[in-house]
Amino acid sequence: MERLTIPTGSGGYDVVIDSGLFDRAGEYLGSFARDGRIVVVTDANVATAQLPRLERAMAQSGVPLDAIVLPAGEASKSWASLEHLLDSLATRGVERGDTIVALGGGVVGDVAGLAAALHLRGCGWVMIPTTLLAQVDSSIGGKTAINAQAGKNLVGAFHPPALVLIDPNSLATLASRELRSGYAEVAKYGLIGDPAFFGWCEGNAASFLGGDCYAARYAIDRCVRAKAAIVAADERETTGTRALLNLGHSFGHAIEAWHEYGPAITHGEAVAAGIALAFGYSARLGLCSTDDARRVAEHFRRIGLPDGLAAAQVSATGAELVGLMGRDKKVRGGQLTLVLVRGIGEAFVASSIDRGDLTDFLNSPV
Ligand code: NAD
Repeated sequence: MERLTIPTGSGGYDVVIDSGLFDRAGEYLGSFARDGRIVVVTDANVATAQLPRLERAMAQSGVPLDAIVLPAGEASKSWASLEHLLDSLATRGVERGDTIVALGGGVVGDVAGLAAALHLRGCGWVMIPTTLLAQVDSSIGGKTAINAQAGKNLVGAFHPPALVLIDPNSLATLASRELRSGYAEVAKYGLIGDPAFFGWCEGNAASFLGGDCYAARYAIDRCVRAKAAIVAADERETTGTRALLNLGHSFGHAIEAWHEYGPAITHGEAVAAGIALAFGYSARLGLCSTDDARRVAEHFRRIGLPDGLAAAQVSATGAELVGLMGRDKKVRGGQLTLVLVRGIGEAFVASSIDRGDLTDFLNSPV
């Protein structure tokens, strides 16, 4: 079992990682029960695939779960879904001192976490991530959000959970496409600042994605530690350290927006294509070698992730994509900011990006 404490401005919270943790959930969640029950927010797929396991474990501790089930998918990160959730929490009489449990992937975590931040001006929440993406990334760091008409994650709050429980066994029911999508965020940690880990990814991604639970456990532990260190250093994304986690995301969010957040592309697939574009653009600017850019694109291609715009089925013009990138939260004074690289493991924040040059690159990315 691995247990880390993430320090926050308001104290800190623990992240517990262990295979089979769900079956001992009562040990951790029992203290959050009020009136003998716990309110869980989940989505329709997770309600079928994982909620019964958690219910069984909690029943053994004598604590029934009262589930609010959202539709699965990115569309649940919406005003309508947030409103439904807030009404449901109010109807159930959830009090400010109570703690809700978010069980699911990044979508459930983002919308339930935001509802927890808003309900009665803030109640507690526990995150139990059930996708690879959520286990290695979104469950840690306290960012919560919904999407707005004008762009992704534009409405949100920093609201750290009280506890994060990661059970790698819960990935057993995840579709292979979703597992692969989450892998983009795994590779990201190596590409940001840990070239040795990217080397490990190149050697082990195939077995990891093929179901090797030792490889999965190793990668999850390593990524959680990396994210914990980044979040501890820059909780509110003010110094530039945490912004490095956005490698590939400005491109990726534009790709997702172009697909209107539909099923044609997952968040992780868009991030993979976005990372390949960030490396390609860095190579064009002479910041990193074309060999590194090729190595990254090749790695994603080999494991079935998109390595650029064509593979992400994007036929938008460069101007359209730069327009979509202009809606990013990282825009400052109208200037585009991107996470670029000087090589594998050497990401940095680049401000005042030349829109014309970026447009040319996106018209014919190499
Ligand atoms: P997701 O939450 O939509 O989950 C993907 C799919 O897997 C869904 O259909 C879900 O129902 C299903 N699912 C989840 N767990 C399952 C399981 N164990 N078994 C079977 N099916 C399961 O997507 P995601 O990739 O986890 O998260 C993407 C979201 O996370 C995006 O909206 C992104 O913006 C957000 N995100 C947030 C942060 C953050 O710091 N808050 C960081 C990265 C990404």
